[in-house]
Amino acid sequence: MVSEKGALFGAKLVRGAYMEKERERAAEMGYPSPIQPDKASSDRDYNLALKFCVDNYGVISLCSGTHNEYSNQYLTELMEGKNIAPHDPGIYFAQLYGMSDNISFNLSKAGYNVVKYVPYGPVEAVLPYLFRRSEENSSIAGQTSREFQYIKKEIKRRIKQERSKT
Ligand SMILES: Cc1cc2nc3c(=O)[nH]c(=O)nc-3n(C[C@H](O)[C@H](O)[C@H](O)COP(=O)(O)OP(=O)(O)OC[C@H]3O[C@@H](n4cnc5c(N)ncnc54)[C@H](O)[C@@H]3O)c2cc1C
Repeated sequence: MVSEKGALFGAKLVRGAYMEKERERAAEMGYPSPIQPDKASSDRDYNLALKFCVDNYGVISLCSGTHNEYSNQYLTELMEGKNIAPHDPGIYFAQLYGMSDNISFNLSKAGYNVVKYVPYGPVEAVLPYLFRRSEENSSIAGQTSREFQYIKKEIKRRIKQERSKT
């Protein structure tokens, strides 16, 4: 609910890390697993949550933290459907620094608000964190090779451009 002073509910959506840990804990402690039964269910509900937030624009302020190409594109479509401007301060996109830069840069170039999370801290804490993130990012697994292809293509384009000047 919007408060009398006009405050919004701030929601940060993520698909959720610690999938294996949570499943193991639930099995050990004998309660139903809080983790979705499969990836398709995670995807479906993430996108439904995006829609719920955009449908409640004006009540909810959204930060969508995902490297999933479709979810990012879908959020832009939902915004367009509601005539919400890309730079509207109520909706942010977020990716981790060094991951899915092609998504962040393209969204940013198109005028959307993009945040890059920069993990920092002692090496013994940051490295396991980054390993976990790279393991759980199933969409990155497919995207990484594409991202490298984009980088290689861009380097070649710049070299060609520089050579054509001389
Ligand atoms: C900016 C940012 C902030 C984040 N902050 C947090 C945070 O505060 N807390 C937190 O827990 N995580 C956080 N994460 C991690 C996030 O929850 C995801 O784990 C990670 O981003 C991968 O999901 P994805 O949407 O990017 O892409 P995808 O690669 O499309 O989805 C991978 C995710 O799908 C789900 N999934 C994959 N396989 C299955 C399966 N077999 N069954 C069920 N579900 C499955 C898991 O949640 C997995 O992490 C953050 C991520 C980002 C980008």
